[in-house]
Amino acid sequence: MRMITNKDTAKASQLRNTAQRNLVLETVRSMSCHPSAEEVYEAVRKKDGHVSKATVYRNLSLLSRQGLIRKVSMPGTCPDRYDFNLTPHFHALCGKCGRIIDVDAMGDVPHLVFSEDFAAESVELVVMGICGCCSNE
Ligand SMILES: [Zn+2]
Ligand SMILES: [Zn+2]
Repeated sequence: MRMITNKDTAKASQLRNTAQRNLVLETVRSMSCHPSAEEVYEAVRKKDGHVSKATVYRNLSLLSRQGLIRKVSMPGTCPDRYDFNLTPHFHALCGKCGRIIDVDAMGDVPHLVFSEDFAAESVELVVMGICGCCSNE
């Protein structure tokens, strides 16, 4: 009888981790609506009911740390969103329906005047307003 070694289990769990990470990545890439972690979890669960919420959340932060997806921090109590679109762009948030649309910034980083010495690395800009669908209602 062949014993299952620790190495085998480690390898199996590594494979499972990779498969789950790819599933989370593919799900985010298939959602063009800037989903929240909760929405990604709902979509992942439709494909694989065995994936836990903790796994989805953990993989989302791992994938954004690896730069494969982008985490978009939202102001106030809005949950963070995830974006597969890695080309630099900003976001606009509809205050009525919560929809998020992409905003292209023309030119380089906006001209910002700092009150102290500060080495800027990136800019996260969220434009608040009302989207076209909501303003036509
Ligand atoms: Zn709206
Ligand atoms: Zn975006």
